[in-house]
Amino acid sequence: MDPQRTEVSTLGEFGLIDHLTKNNEIKNASTVLSVGDDAAVMDHFGKQTVITTDMLVEGIHFDLMYSPLKHLGYKSVIVNLSDVYAMNAHPTQITMSIAFSNRFSVEALNEFYEGVYAACDKYNVDLVGGDTTSSQKGFIICVTAIGEVAPDKFVTRSGAKKDDLICVSGELGGAFLGLTLLEREKKIFLETKGVQPDLENQDYIVGRILKPEARRDIIEFFEEKEIQPTSMIDISDGLSSEALHICKKSETGCVLYEEKIPINEMARQFAYKLELDPTACALSGGEDYELLFTIGQKDFDKVSENPNISIVGYITEKEKGSVIITKGGNTHPLTAQGWNALK
Ligand code: ADP
Ligand code: MG
Repeated sequence: MDPQRTEVSTLGEFGLIDHLTKNNEIKNASTVLSVGDDAAVMDHFGKQTVITTDMLVEGIHFDLMYSPLKHLGYKSVIVNLSDVYAMNAHPTQITMSIAFSNRFSVEALNEFYEGVYAACDKYNVDLVGGDTTSSQKGFIICVTAIGEVAPDKFVTRSGAKKDDLICVSGELGGAFLGLTLLEREKKIFLETKGVQPDLENQDYIVGRILKPEARRDIIEFFEEKEIQPTSMIDISDGLSSEALHICKKSETGCVLYEEKIPINEMARQFAYKLELDPTACALSGGEDYELLFTIGQKDFDKVSENPNISIVGYITEKEKGSVIITKGGNTHPLTAQGWNALK
């Protein structure tokens, strides 16, 4: 028996909730009432409120064989904050609901909450509630994030206009490559007893999948430079799929340039090693949690100044369709399923 293991049953449900939230600190004036009542109360003082929720299920969205619980707690918050930033809003509160089997001890849940609180601290968000229940098998996490935005400054997926510039933050494809590496090492580990995973020199891609960040800096940059993007979405399913969402909702087409798609050099090298096409990883790989947005041409100079933003294409009329122009100058239709034409 693990000497460090405390059964959840020794605390009971209410004891566990108290234990997990005893050091919970409130950081936002908008949090009027937090954990401990039937509901939390928030007051955004004349701002508009955005709300988003996401569920993560063991075996579907994460694998505890290679996801440390602390990272998982962190990531489950981040993926929700990313959706709030994608509305051009600032997250202020989250609720965290968990279901788990008796395989999980109090120590394991402590670790998970360490990650949750680390994300809340970094992004100045208050944990104001949640729910705690049991599951027969596996760990289920459901996070709701609430945010605030100045009246009518929120950005939807539907406002892109012909000739707008298409921009992305950061670099793409790394998370998919990190996941591919972890899956490969897991398979080797299970098939060949005792072989330890070889993750050497792959900190970048492994970090991209296990410990993503949300792009608060981009939203702050918009505020500072008085840029109002015409449309925005966060990149959770690959650039291709997200660009198609914007085009569909905005009733436009688009042109992307392969050579403009930002890909980290370490990710590119790892893709080559696996004989994968780095561009296909950026277009179809998921979980990068970068932002894809469009801006009017008047904002070109402002956006060009920011080294964390790449202009990857422009919006066209709907009739022109959604396409990518390769480094070789060929034009291919964008598809959401993954795009293999470069292979
Ligand atoms: P109720 O029965 O009214 O739903 P609960 O007993 O489920 O209340 O929860 C008590 C308080 O603890 C509520 O404020 C709830 O939001 C909060 N809470 C429950 N589970 C969690 C959790 N896993 N993390 C954070 N807060 C939680
Ligand atoms: Mg409850």
